[in-house]
Amino acid sequence: MELAWGEAGLLPAIVQDRMTGQVRMLAYMNRASLERTIETGRATFFSRSRGALWEKGETSGNTLAVAAIVADCDADALLLLVDPVGPTCHTGKPACFFRRVDERGIAAEAGVDAAAFLEVLEREIEARRTSSAEKSYTRSLLDGGPAKIGAKIREEADEFVRAIEGEDDTRVANEAADLVYHVLVGLASRGVPLRDVVRVLAARAGTSGHEEKAKRGGPR
Ligand code: AMP
Ligand code: ZN
Ligand code: ZN
Ligand code: ZN
Repeated sequence: MELAWGEAGLLPAIVQDRMTGQVRMLAYMNRASLERTIETGRATFFSRSRGALWEKGETSGNTLAVAAIVADCDADALLLLVDPVGPTCHTGKPACFFRRVDERGIAAEAGVDAAAFLEVLEREIEARRTSSAEKSYTRSLLDGGPAKIGAKIREEADEFVRAIEGEDDTRVANEAADLVYHVLVGLASRGVPLRDVVRVLAARAGTSGHEEKAKRGGPR
């Protein structure tokens, strides 16, 4: 199917983080910018205000490595699946969509974060780690180091196992939430981003769980 470039020769291009699903920005592409994007593997758009091609990150360094370019059902809109380098919005925020629109149609910055939920939680934990504010529970765990975090992860893992063995679905969900949260704290304590975990999971997808275990040398 040919792309439906239309009168102005432009298509809107939604940019999505392929790891987290976060919508990072929207821009426009013409044929030349699409060709440049395919050639270089980095997102290049057509700036309607400047009337020129513009590689995202050409001045800021915050580029977008393009993993796939997808067209919608009637080929009049594009989706770029990317691995972003640094924040994508020119304001320094990770993504451009942070203004909530109210009943009057006014857009104002508000506690909206279009990131995938786990990423929001990860950032909250990171904020506790670095803040000088009064002690939060998260902060006390991080201050306690691997011993304290490890003890909590073991405790929560045990509670989760007991829940799946014979408790109700609400308990199962609650204990899973406890476990996920404490694992995120463990990752934060080592400075390992959730993205790295997702990357490992994505790389494993396609290999069956059994093969994967065999490759790593048996169950762990
Ligand atoms: P950059 O492409 O990041 O080097 O930024 C160069 C210029 O491009 C900025 O000053 C903005 O005018 C524009 N720009 C950068 N990022 C965005 C974005 N996410 N949405 C719209 N315009 C942007
Ligand atoms: Zn369409
Ligand atoms: Zn922006
Ligand atoms: Zn628990």
